[in-house]
Amino acid sequence: MKTQFFKTAKRLFYPQRCAYCGRVIDPFTELCDACAQEVCRVPPPICFACARSKKDCDCGGAHNRFVTAFAAPFYFDGSVRTAIHRLKFSGDTDVAAPLSREMANFACEVFAHVQFDCATFVPMTDREQKERGFNQSRLLCVGAAKALGIPTQPLLCKLYETRRQRELSRWERSGNVLGVFDVVDPSLVAGKRILLCDDVTTSRSTLTECAKMLRIYGAREVFCLTAAVVSPRDNRKG
Ligand SMILES: [Zn+2]
Ligand SMILES: [Zn+2]
Repeated sequence: MKTQFFKTAKRLFYPQRCAYCGRVIDPFTELCDACAQEVCRVPPPICFACARSKKDCDCGGAHNRFVTAFAAPFYFDGSVRTAIHRLKFSGDTDVAAPLSREMANFACEVFAHVQFDCATFVPMTDREQKERGFNQSRLLCVGAAKALGIPTQPLLCKLYETRRQRELSRWERSGNVLGVFDVVDPSLVAGKRILLCDDVTTSRSTLTECAKMLRIYGAREVFCLTAAVVSPRDNRKG
């Protein structure tokens, strides 16, 4: 009741902005009309090997030794692409809340019968984090995990900097992240069923490398959840 009162009061003084693009919009709506129209959801049933809808999947159900399933509520397209770019490159951290809520809702749907012990995120080096001021994967993870009622634990660290994955070809990407991550405290990982979060699923090599380390240290299962997965029309960008 009280929160609702303050929300209402706040809206009288501060204009409501679209959660994805930042445009001023009608109070008490979340997205502007353009963004609402351009949202590209991933319609279940999904392919757990690539996170796309089964009707859009061209991965042939590729087996992954380390990741039990990949999932994402959106395709990396339209307004969700704008939102993730604003989050990563303009530092609009407000975008993380609506995206992480969608991640949690989607996880409830597609991972309905999975009991997670904890959630974790793709780490950055200290320098990378200092440069950006925050880790977008951590923000998305914290939001999603809170909505799912599971704790977030920083289980992984990034040992050294790599070239940006999006500058590399699909084939260079897995080599680029090989051996880059490590587990912070093995005792927190052993026997656990872990939800691993990131912003966008592209080649899956970063998530797979993180999952590999978690599994090496005894994680029971690793499920990957991102805000978006690269759309079927676009295999390279991200
Ligand atoms: Zn908008
Ligand atoms: Zn697939």
